[in-house]
Amino acid sequence: RGGQAQREIPFAQPGSLTKVFAIASGKGGVGKSSVTVNLAVAMAGQGLKVGIVDADIYGHSVPAMLGVGDERPTQVEDLIMPVPTASGVSVISIGMLKPRRDQVVAWRGPMLDRALVQMLSDVYWGDLDVLLLDLPPGTGDVAISLGQHLPNAEVVVVTTPQEAAAEVAERAGTMASMMHQRVVGVVENMSFLPCPHCGPEHQIDVFGSGGGERVATTLSARFGYDVSVLGRIPLDLSLREGGDTGKPIVEADPTAPAAAELTRVAEGL
Ligand code: ADP
Repeated sequence: RGGQAQREIPFAQPGSLTKVFAIASGKGGVGKSSVTVNLAVAMAGQGLKVGIVDADIYGHSVPAMLGVGDERPTQVEDLIMPVPTASGVSVISIGMLKPRRDQVVAWRGPMLDRALVQMLSDVYWGDLDVLLLDLPPGTGDVAISLGQHLPNAEVVVVTTPQEAAAEVAERAGTMASMMHQRVVGVVENMSFLPCPHCGPEHQIDVFGSGGGERVATTLSARFGYDVSVLGRIPLDLSLREGGDTGKPIVEADPTAPAAAELTRVAEGL
């Protein structure tokens, strides 16, 4: 919008009633998007109005995980309408801002900043109770932009139990704190595999153990306030399948231990 004053971000206004959570991780593939989507759907199940901004430039997978991977947002005058989903969660994705679906998001900082602001201020979100942001892994441009535009966002750090994942997750948490955002807790994902042969009481530590606790302890010591492990999500085939088929596990198979744990985390936020 050449020269026109930028619209304000409603979530950054002092009177905003929308709780904003940024879901961060140190590296990719730890289940950050899966956690974001399932927390959102669980919150919608509690009767909350929930939106997701998928700002993961590398892995913008949120729409597909919600069954709307092929949809594009519509526009009403100069406002973008977020894409509604079967779970009741509205979503906008950085992937939807690309002219073509197969295009790579090869944008530098200022473009990414503009895209983030656009998803926050040019989208008609209505009165949301909760907005979740799926951040790209790491401590890059999007995390810095978000910290500048929404310092009131609370940050949830997702890690696996693995030492190497925990170390980079600590950096993502520290970055949030440098941007004056509060880290509300750590979700340890892929925590263990309930043994499919001898029964769920035998847990196999596929990715080792202790990563979530390590991140929580380190960040608590570094920030001087309590950062706790909000939940430990087991490895679960149906969680992966739910992501691939666009039917999040918290809704499709709510009694599965992974779904129950994600729902418990959502209730605590
Ligand atoms: P990220 O957003 O951190 O890159 P994703 O949420 O895309 O990670 O997850 C990476 C892959 O791992 C996906 O295929 C997802 O379905 C799968 N996955 C994530 N968490 C679990 C889990 N607890 N159990 C089984 N598969 C999982």
